[in-house]
Amino acid sequence: MSGTGTTGGGDVVEAAAAGCDCQEAVDRLWEYLDDELGTEETARIRAHLDGCTPCISERDLDLTIKVVVRRGCREQAPAELRLRVIEQITALRVAAGTTTA
Ligand SMILES: [Zn+2]
Repeated sequence: MSGTGTTGGGDVVEAAAAGCDCQEAVDRLWEYLDDELGTEETARIRAHLDGCTPCISERDLDLTIKVVVRRGCREQAPAELRLRVIEQITALRVAAGTTTA
């Protein structure tokens, strides 16, 4: 038998390439708003935000929070504040029943 030494690469996760899930979108929302992500990452987050209503709400909420934070101090929000914001957003999503159980 002559073996064809090719290996089939059938393990491509298309979902990961096509976009991102809500968790990743929320996780990177802050960086996205700060333009800290690369071009591809920004495109992925933006693509998700365009098609995901709950995440659009979160983006708007984050934008509002960022404006408030930047009025208080010109530096980036501390990690603790950021975590609290994400926690609040998560709580809001749970309350609104937008999470996928
Ligand atoms: Zn989403």
